[in-house]
Amino acid sequence: MTGDESVQRMEFMLTLRRRGITDQAVLRAMDEVPREHFVEAQHAGFAYADQAMPIPCGQTISQPFIVAYMTEQLQVRDNHRVLEVGTGSGYQAAVLSRLAREVISIERYRTLADAARTRLKTLDYNNVDVVAGDGFAGEPSRAPYDRIIVTAAAENVPQALTEQLAEDGIMVIPLGPQEGHQELARLTKTKGWLKRDNLIPVRFVPLLPGRAREL
Ligand code: SAH
Repeated sequence: MTGDESVQRMEFMLTLRRRGITDQAVLRAMDEVPREHFVEAQHAGFAYADQAMPIPCGQTISQPFIVAYMTEQLQVRDNHRVLEVGTGSGYQAAVLSRLAREVISIERYRTLADAARTRLKTLDYNNVDVVAGDGFAGEPSRAPYDRIIVTAAAENVPQALTEQLAEDGIMVIPLGPQEGHQELARLTKTKGWLKRDNLIPVRFVPLLPGRAREL
């Protein structure tokens, strides 16, 4: 790491703390995962800026603060199995893999799923399984999940995900219209019922129905 890079990484961690992330395990995970490997090569110089960035297929890698915040709200423990919908670059999955027993991540673009799988394997994140598929259907064969995180915005909570969330499980999901006001919601399942807490306003790419026909 050059001097410049280590200053950027220190500022990155300071920004997360300043913006209110306090969970030490989450901060450690954010510190450990090298974001420069998850952005496009031409953006590597900005990997530690607190901003979302374009990735292939017209998608985005989320802003680091949002990744840390969603992870903190998810309250992941080391015996948990986590389902992520929207693998994208694989960055959020890598952060989760530092905290959970196992991460299963679904992506509708095969190109993105394949690239993320290769990237995660190269970086030795061996407890993540990337699946090309439709997040609206979840991954029923391995349900229930202790935690579910959705990193694309839906108008409503997909029914299959509700069903695949374990009792006492937590789901964090951006809810709202594609172009309008989206709220990050935390849903807690108690005796089969979901309790909803609105957390912060957010802006995510839409959760699109079906497997992508295009690559
Ligand atoms: N978590 C990602 C950011 C993802 S952006 C990261 O850390 O980089 C949202 C992703 O959700 C996009 O890659 C998009 O293709 C994917 N997506 C949208 N609708 C989907 C669906 N129905 N099933 C699975 N993935 C979906």
